[in-house]
Amino acid sequence: MSAFRKVAVIGGGITGLTAAYALRQTGATVRLFEAGAKVGGPVQSVRDGEWLVEAGPNSIQENSPELTALISDLGLDEARSAAQPAAKNRYILRNGKPQAAPSSPPGLLSSSLFSFGAKLRIFRELLHRPRIRPADVSLADFVRSHFGDELVDYGLNPFVSGIYAGDPSQLSARHSFPSLWKIEQETGSIIRGQIKAAKAKRAVGGPSGPPPIISFREGLGMLPAALARDIGPLNIGLNARIKSLIPGKRWGVVWNRDSNTQVEEFDRVILALPAKPLSELTIGSLGECPLAELADITTPAVSSFFLGYKREQVAHPLDGFGVLMPQAEHRQVLGVLFSSSLFEGRAPEGHVGLTVMLGGVHRPDLGQADEATLLRVVKRELGEILGVTGEPVYQRLHSWPRAIPQYNLGYGEFLKVIESCERSYPRLFIGGNVRDGISLTNGIAAGHKLAARALG
Ligand SMILES: Cc1cc2nc3c(=O)[nH]c(=O)nc-3n(C[C@H](O)[C@H](O)[C@H](O)COP(=O)(O)OP(=O)(O)OC[C@H]3O[C@@H](n4cnc5c(N)ncnc54)[C@H](O)[C@@H]3O)c2cc1C
Repeated sequence: MSAFRKVAVIGGGITGLTAAYALRQTGATVRLFEAGAKVGGPVQSVRDGEWLVEAGPNSIQENSPELTALISDLGLDEARSAAQPAAKNRYILRNGKPQAAPSSPPGLLSSSLFSFGAKLRIFRELLHRPRIRPADVSLADFVRSHFGDELVDYGLNPFVSGIYAGDPSQLSARHSFPSLWKIEQETGSIIRGQIKAAKAKRAVGGPSGPPPIISFREGLGMLPAALARDIGPLNIGLNARIKSLIPGKRWGVVWNRDSNTQVEEFDRVILALPAKPLSELTIGSLGECPLAELADITTPAVSSFFLGYKREQVAHPLDGFGVLMPQAEHRQVLGVLFSSSLFEGRAPEGHVGLTVMLGGVHRPDLGQADEATLLRVVKRELGEILGVTGEPVYQRLHSWPRAIPQYNLGYGEFLKVIESCERSYPRLFIGGNVRDGISLTNGIAAGHKLAARALG
């Protein structure tokens, strides 16, 4: 039956690509519209001689059988790169120096990152009973109620900078980390809940330990490129910006390319767009924007600045994933990824590559600053934090003016706007990082879910 369906997928990021790919697998006719000249959204890898630079995301957590199957089906098994063993070390800045973050309970006991009082508080958390909160709370308050202030400042805060480039006192506990919210309701203690989940995973034959962190030989960009190859270039419209949808017996999709307006009819429409274009989309002949309120979603700018150095220019051993900066340390950069330690083949022999993230909710100005300004900031900070000396031998800046939507307190209202739009317009399906979680794994799951709903 699905073979007779013609589906428009709007937005060629990881969510839209996965949805289009999954639909094609069922024999449905699909056309994917992407406003940019390339698919992948921020997932772009740049090969420049022996340097390999990620413009946006650097790694994926391979934490779902769906993702593992997708990698195999796309023929990417051989190209998969696992993070190097040293990458399991994470550093957090404390008193101006990178300190190793504990990765296990014994590691926590000997860690110099947290005081004795903070460690005691962490172990007391095991006694927490299940709890149903009457209302949502900020992520900072949620974590404080389990582990105390020090964990918020030196555990949660840098972790949230690294994922959301966000502020834990504004993020909603319920929407930004729904799994923790659920654990509190079902188990009480976050630590016991995570141990229970790990045991349950092992009991059904799942892998033990944290999910592997991966990329691909030529960077994460290989994933959208492989999806696009499979969908077929003829089924993908690049530089095609969707302006409006016309509801009716079939959907009319109206798009602009080179200032020409074109209209094509479809049975179903999937919107896999960020908040801003969703808010501007008109649906219907009267120019209504049913998703206009999504314009209020905070989506701060982030800069990703890759710098290459000769090995001897960097004093730090770079034996880890990278270093994150708690806000309490008053640094200008959000974090530094040790890119050439994380994956092989990122820098020429005798050199190292670092990716510095700047911007986010606290310093959106640095998410959009020019290269010369950022270089001044970054050189000073890298000198003080990692003992980097001299000029970089290679540099490449990528800026994302609207990087990551913040699932702040009150985010549930935005989700209601999306749900109400879907209810008003049957055969319209909306998903992606504005709704389904911000990681690439979330995007892949969202793409599969959207495809299944469109076929249902
Ligand atoms: C700097 C940075 C670092 C990150 N690091 C990581 C990481 O290490 N690991 C991780 O898991 N996640 C990371 N993320 C998050 C993750 O990359 C994103 O959440 C995810 O890629 C979003 O995918 P999406 O398909 O939902 O949206 P998008 O990728 O934003 O796709 C939406 C697409 O729609 C297109 N579009 C916009 N308007 C229109 C229109 N009117 N018509 C047609 N097309 C349109 C856009 O051009 C875009 O290609 C990072 C994000 C950024 C910005």
